Amino acid sequence: MHRRCTHGSSFLEALGTIDSYRQDISHAGRSLHVARAAGGWRLAAALVVLTVAVAAEQVWQAERRNAALRDEVAGLHAQLGDKRELIARQRREMAQVASAVDHLARTTATLSEGGATARRLAHMQESHAETPALVKVAASLDGGMSVVSEDAGRALEQLAWLDGQAAAASDSFAVLTVLLKDRVAEVSRGVPTLWPVRGLVTSPFGARMSPYGEGREMHPGIDISARYGLPVTAAGSGEVTFAGRDPGYGGLVIVDHGGQLGTLYAHLSALYVREGQRVRGGQAIGAVGATGRATGAHLHYEVRVNGAPVDPRRYLMK
Ligand SMILES: [Zn+2]
Repeated sequence: MHRRCTHGSSFLEALGTIDSYRQDISHAGRSLHVARAAGGWRLAAALVVLTVAVAAEQVWQAERRNAALRDEVAGLHAQLGDKRELIARQRREMAQVASAVDHLARTTATLSEGGATARRLAHMQESHAETPALVKVAASLDGGMSVVSEDAGRALEQLAWLDGQAAAASDSFAVLTVLLKDRVAEVSRGVPTLWPVRGLVTSPFGARMSPYGEGREMHPGIDISARYGLPVTAAGSGEVTFAGRDPGYGGLVIVDHGGQLGTLYAHLSALYVREGQRVRGGQAIGAVGATGRATGAHLHYEVRVNGAPVDPRRYLMK
């Protein structure tokens, strides 16, 4: 019994041992699985890290290349800016030179013209002075490198020559100034700036409706409302070229002021001057009336330049 028991016990023990082995084996197997799985993860992690590192390196390299390119572009931009500024400065300098040449050329033309007139008027001998030789202007910067273009060089040469011309002409100009002074005063006395009669301007110069109901017409002068019989005076000094009657203008006086300037006074009731007479500005030449085609007492006043009527208000003083 005991043996059987023992046998029995041994069998059970043996069974337990086997079970324990099986458990051990199973456990070992699981451990192996776990170990294998752990190795795979590590490899994968290493691959990921490697991939990320390679990608990061590439990104960093690309970034560095971009930065270098950006620097290069910025440098080129700066150079371009410098070049633009240089070009702009050169253009400004060229414009200044051109403007100076232009100004001097005009001055010289005026002076030599004036000089010739002055000499003619003063019966002076024509100057036989030689045309001043062209002065070579050489502009250079360190190393002898020319800083002016061919055009600028030519302009500067011209400038130097014109300078000489201007100096030569200035003495003739002084003579001319004296001679012209009297002539200018004479001409300015003739300009019709004085009101021929004081009064309201009832009809301006230019297109207007006809006072006789004949539609639009051109009014070649201004109508100044004034009392019948008031004196009408010359607007400037000059010579009477007409004093008489006209079907339309009525009692009419025309004064020639020289310089192609003329004035016309119409509808006069009386004439105080005759043809060929010299008159001064402000001198009475007739009286306000309503003769000719006139609706009432007023002065019709015209200013003519080269025979063509212009707005007298352009000449009249305020
Ligand atoms: Zn009129």
